[in-house]
Amino acid sequence: MPVGKDQLPHLELTRELARRFNSLYRPVFPDPQEHLTKFAKVLGTDGRKMSKSYGNAINLSDTEPVVRPKIKTMITDPARVRRHDPGNPDVCPVYDFHKIFSPLPVIEQVNQDCRKAAIGCIDCKKLVADRVVERLAPMWAARATLTQHPSRLDEIAEDGRRRATAVSSQTMAEVRDAMKI
Ligand code: SF4
Repeated sequence: MPVGKDQLPHLELTRELARRFNSLYRPVFPDPQEHLTKFAKVLGTDGRKMSKSYGNAINLSDTEPVVRPKIKTMITDPARVRRHDPGNPDVCPVYDFHKIFSPLPVIEQVNQDCRKAAIGCIDCKKLVADRVVERLAPMWAARATLTQHPSRLDEIAEDGRRRATAVSSQTMAEVRDAMKI
């Protein structure tokens, strides 16, 4: 099951329920396992948990003119006060973004340059903002297309509903059979 780290307690609850049912009746439910991505947790632009309510999130619905200023105002290594102070990328949320969005040579370069103050935070943020924009641009384009054709959204939702119903009906039939109801 694709989840972020925050959802692991919910998954544990689901696992408990599945195991309980399987042991009470017969094995119907597979043991739910988490599929965490390499970056199961992405912090917000202020270094706290990313959350809409904190106003520190980069939303998929944000446009380029929204995303760039958000990245520009991201917090960095708090100990790096002046441009010539060496930084520590390990405590910097901007560097975390590099690890997600930038190619390996850039990640390594930033890591070295930050530690010897060979790169400034403004340039570092610009580098990562370019990568974020590059990654999100296809989603923005797809979103724009769908917004112009709302009926396509209905079709996608209907297709999903049909496929989910097919699977859930089959599972519920097995559940009723196992419970003899
Ligand atoms: S140079 Fe980059 S990684 Fe280093 S503190 Fe500044 S923003 Fe963070």
